[in-house]
Amino acid sequence: MCVEMSKVYVDKSVIEYMKKEIDRVHDKEIETGGIILGRNCEKENDIFISHIIDGGHNAQRKKSSFKKDIKYSKKMENRILKKYGFYYIGEWHTHPNNSTQYSLMDMESMISISANNIGYKMIFIISGNNYKPFKIYSYNRINRKIEELPYEITEIEKLLK
Ligand SMILES: [Zn+2]
Repeated sequence: MCVEMSKVYVDKSVIEYMKKEIDRVHDKEIETGGIILGRNCEKENDIFISHIIDGGHNAQRKKSSFKKDIKYSKKMENRILKKYGFYYIGEWHTHPNNSTQYSLMDMESMISISANNIGYKMIFIISGNNYKPFKIYSYNRINRKIEELPYEITEIEKLLK
């Protein structure tokens, strides 16, 4: 079994989108987030993030918790899959106190999302209110630990050609 560390390639447009969404809630000091879409090349161990989506109208954004609008997220996921072929590979959320460390609740949620999506390596972005640098985590099913993944911001279209 492959134990090599994955590397994540994040499209530049994703950073712009995240920045906009964080700016939108910045003064309210609440968490925001949503789903991550992309491609997961199991063979080469590389993960590509093509899109991130906001949480939707009915998302719950609070001081120390975030819950996405499930209906909206599913709808957006299907739309992007149909149009671009990218699929759901994880979730992102922010911490208004700028900590990029995961909480116990975050850890439980990462493990449960990974357990419910065994086809792909699920990834999780935790960002402060400055959106950069953020951290990307993944649950390693082999050693049962949360690990931080290295990433690079790039234009993924060039890499996927
Ligand atoms: Zn959190």
